[in-house]
Amino acid sequence: MSAVEPRPWINAIAPYVPGQPAATRDGSMASNESTFPVSRRVADAVNAVLDGVSEYPDPLANGLREALAALHDVDPDQILVGNGSDELVYLLVLTYAGHGGRVLCAKPSYRIDEVSAAVVGADVAYVPLVDWRHDLVAMATVPADVAFVVNPHNPTGTTCAPDEIASFVDTARARLSVVDEAYIDFADIPEEATAIPLARRGDAVVLRTFSKVFGLAGARVGYLVGSADLVATLRKVRAPFSVSSFAQAAAVAGLADRDHYHRARTETVARRAELVRLLVDRGFEVVPSQANFVLARCEGEAALVAHLAASGISVRPGSALGVPGAIRVSVPSAEGLRLLAGALPDADQVPTRRRTP
Ligand SMILES: *Cc1c(COP(=O)(O)O)cnc(C)c1O
Repeated sequence: MSAVEPRPWINAIAPYVPGQPAATRDGSMASNESTFPVSRRVADAVNAVLDGVSEYPDPLANGLREALAALHDVDPDQILVGNGSDELVYLLVLTYAGHGGRVLCAKPSYRIDEVSAAVVGADVAYVPLVDWRHDLVAMATVPADVAFVVNPHNPTGTTCAPDEIASFVDTARARLSVVDEAYIDFADIPEEATAIPLARRGDAVVLRTFSKVFGLAGARVGYLVGSADLVATLRKVRAPFSVSSFAQAAAVAGLADRDHYHRARTETVARRAELVRLLVDRGFEVVPSQANFVLARCEGEAALVAHLAASGISVRPGSALGVPGAIRVSVPSAEGLRLLAGALPDADQVPTRRRTP
C-alpha cells in the first residue's frame, strides 16, 4: 500500500518541539515545571484511587469542578476540566474556529495556540508584541473567531494590566476572547491580575492549569472558566473520559493543599529574583517576568545552549520559541541555581544584546 496522505493542511504543520529534560531534575530548566516535591496529600490521594481503576472516571470531574467553583465564586456549570489546558485550547479552536475560521495570537505566541489552529484548518492572524508585551489595542481591531491573550505571556513572562484586558475584551472584534493564565500564580498579586471576573460574567474564557504552581504537569489537568453555554457546547465536542481518575484525584488533593501552593508560589517568586540577578550580573538583558521563567537575550544562542547542555543544564533556545537570540530559563531549584551560576560564562565572555542607550 502506498503511504496514506493526511488532509492536505496537516502536512504543512511544523511539529511542536518539547523542551529537553537534563540528566538531573535540578538541571532541567527548559519546560517551566515545578521544582518542589509532590505534596504528600497528592501522593496519598492518587494511591487511594487504584482500587477503583476498573471503573471509568467521572466524565465531568464533579469533585474538582465543585472545589474550583467555590475557589473562583462561579457556578460549577461554568467550569470544564481538561486533559491539561492544552486539550482545552484544541477544543476551543476546533469548536469556534474550525474549518476555515480564524485564530488571533500575539507574535511570538504560545505554540499550542497556533498548532491547534493549523490542525483544524483555521488561519492565524498575528499581532507582534511591543516591548515584549501583547499589543492589545492593535489586537482588538482584528476580526477573528478566537483571540488568545496569554497573561503572563509565554515565552516572555510579561503581563497586561487587568484594565487593559477588560477593555480588550470589551472592544475586541474577535467573537471569543481567551485569556490563558497558566502562570498567573507567579504574578505579584494574582487576585488582582486575573481575568476571572470577566469569565464569571461570561465575557471571556479563562484557562488555568495544574501543571505549573501545583507541580502536576505529568498528571495532565487544566480547566477553563466561561459561560455555562460555552461549557455545554464544549462538552458535546470533547472526549468524555479525557481526564483520568488519577488526574482528578491529584488535582483535588493539590488544590486543597494550600501550604504547598503558598510555599511553591513564594519560593519560586523569590528565586526568580535571584535568577534575574545572576543573569544580569553575567551580562544578559533580561525581560521583566511575572512567570516561573525568564527570557534572557544573548548573541550566540546555539553555542550558549550547547555550553549549558555540556554542564548538565537544559534551557529552551529562543529560536524554537520565535525569539531568536535568547534563551528561556525556568526558575530552577536552589541547587539548579548553583549549577547555573557555575556554568554561565562571565559577563565579558557573553556577547549580549544590550539596549542601545
Ligand atoms: C505550560 C502552559 C500551559 C499548560 O498546559 P497544560 O496542557 O495544562 O500542561 C498552558 N498555556 C501556556 C501558555 C503554558 O505555557
